Amino acid sequence: MLKKILSPESCAKCRVCCIFDKYDVWETPVISKELREKISEVSPGLKFASKGNAFIFNMEECWDEKEELFTCPALDPQKGCTLGDLKPFDCKIWPYRIMRLGNDLVISIASICPEMYSKPLSELTGMLEGGLAEEIFREAALHPEMIKPYEQGYPILKVKEGENK
Ligand code: SF4
Repeated sequence: MLKKILSPESCAKCRVCCIFDKYDVWETPVISKELREKISEVSPGLKFASKGNAFIFNMEECWDEKEELFTCPALDPQKGCTLGDLKPFDCKIWPYRIMRLGNDLVISIASICPEMYSKPLSELTGMLEGGLAEEIFREAALHPEMIKPYEQGYPILKVKEGENK
């Protein structure tokens, strides 16, 4: 989804978005009920935990005590994400994030993505204006469980006023 701005090669070398510390484990991708069923068909070994009306991966068994990190159970260390087209929307748009801030919905960006965060602001907002923002807001309306509370320090790139009902 971000191929125009973020090369698959850069992502393959990095994978920071698939590994979480205890402070950013809230970033674990949200998975709708329908998507969970599809993922379970192709990867029956993956375990889930409820999150509101949706699910997240059960990360309990993914904690590396030595590194103090959680690794997404769908990540293959050699091949990358094993979910292909079933990758959660949260992952398809990362490092863009959809968040609630007061009465508004905002699209922000996670500064932890080195490739995207080094790009000019005009490129990051240009991608949103080129149709991505519309797609994110549409998906968020269908699956509100993917909307996260606003986190301090996340630069806001786009606001949809009065949409947080
Ligand atoms: S689902 Fe795939 S892209 Fe998303 S965090 Fe897990 S391994 Fe990474």
